[in-house]
Amino acid sequence: MRSTKIICTLGPATDSPEILREMILAGTNIFRLNMSHGTHEWVRAIVKKIRKAASDLDAVVAILLDTQGPAIRTGDLANKLNLKPGDIFEFTVRGARSEEQFSTDVNYDGLVDDISVGDVVLVDNGVMHMKVLHKNSNRIRCEVLTAGTLGSRRHINLPGVKVNLPPLTEKDLADIEVGVEVGVDFVALSFCREAADIIELKRLLRERGSQARTVAKIEDQHAVKFVNDIIRASDAVMIARGDLGIECAMEELPIIQRRIIKKCIQIGRPVIVATHMLESMIENPLPTRAEITDVANAVYEQADAIMLSGETTVGKYPVQCVKILDRVARRIARSGGAGYAKDAIVNTTRMKTMRSAVTLANSFSNSKIIVFTRHGYMADHASHLRPDSAPIFAFSPSAEVVRRLALSWNVHPILMSFGIDPEHTIADAEVELTRRGLAVRGDQLIILSDVMVGTERFDSIQLRQVI
Ligand code: PEP
Repeated sequence: MRSTKIICTLGPATDSPEILREMILAGTNIFRLNMSHGTHEWVRAIVKKIRKAASDLDAVVAILLDTQGPAIRTGDLANKLNLKPGDIFEFTVRGARSEEQFSTDVNYDGLVDDISVGDVVLVDNGVMHMKVLHKNSNRIRCEVLTAGTLGSRRHINLPGVKVNLPPLTEKDLADIEVGVEVGVDFVALSFCREAADIIELKRLLRERGSQARTVAKIEDQHAVKFVNDIIRASDAVMIARGDLGIECAMEELPIIQRRIIKKCIQIGRPVIVATHMLESMIENPLPTRAEITDVANAVYEQADAIMLSGETTVGKYPVQCVKILDRVARRIARSGGAGYAKDAIVNTTRMKTMRSAVTLANSFSNSKIIVFTRHGYMADHASHLRPDSAPIFAFSPSAEVVRRLALSWNVHPILMSFGIDPEHTIADAEVELTRRGLAVRGDQLIILSDVMVGTERFDSIQLRQVI
């Protein structure tokens, strides 16, 4: 049992049926489709492949569609550009053409207004720096300050500038439409700047009949300023450290990460720590010691999930990356956690019931929590309270709910239909756990279920020992 979930971004290195299969066997819980790069045809094809691989392996695997959001990106290039200090580079907007040897168009016309002569433009996750020498209404002329290779659709950051793009661009709306069509389980909103942005995404999804859960990506200073409201408004949160580490002072990043994880656990929202977790493994078969420690820190802080990006989209060792996350996460979880859940807000009757169940589970060394959940809420309540060592087995008759629970810390979702009589459903669940080798004789099962008293149903906590 691994409590921290693993999310892998798919790309050319991983989108074949064979590798998808290996990635699932290695422990991937959720595949992420990054719409800054994926086309609609690719989404339609890859979703079919993922669903088939998961079904062949009888595995629960969810899909997260990650929108590009109001991000400034460079355009498509026929060939990568090798830039060195002193080179002249031009960014163009509004369809303008450049006479320079090195240039690209940009998806945001307002870049020309938001930037001043003398500013430094940060390109491709801050790797390349370019100084603005001159600008007119459709062109920005720069001097390259740091060497680098510019590929297609690279990100441009303007730290502290509120980019004048809507929270969901035309491209995002079209991408979400396809996500709904293929039935993705999560939709992430890039550059979410305030709670209203995520509320808008939720409205859009419900309007189109999708129950997909929303993920607010925290990646700039505006989001950090309004982070508590954003966490409350969203179903889950991603700490998108790639952009966040450029948009904010880098020494603030660990503090922001800790603050967001604490708040998410307090309010009860799944939280994902993303980007650069095993960056060196894009090229190398083993991670650095610092990367292992970074992964261990996220696991120790009891984030729900850790995420791979370049490591699994273009990296040379995608399956090995998943195996390493799996190994580190299992080991670190055994050494204890930060215990932020002691401050969890428990204010509804069902949450109070769940807290009693978790307290009971914590008093045994061999306990297992079993919940029967139609919408996933009870399983999520158990997860948010971060039981000491008891895994949470969440039985649900809904395949969609089962997949959405793939994100929740230490929840192990199982698809099973429910009978009319709760007692039969409990018996079926016990048989299923024993059959899978997930419960053995002597285990203490803490069961959250309805009981029938006459014709009325009541919530109950039952303690049963596997015999
Ligand atoms: C990030 O910036 O860390 C991130 C996950 O977003 P993207 O990969 O879309 O830039």
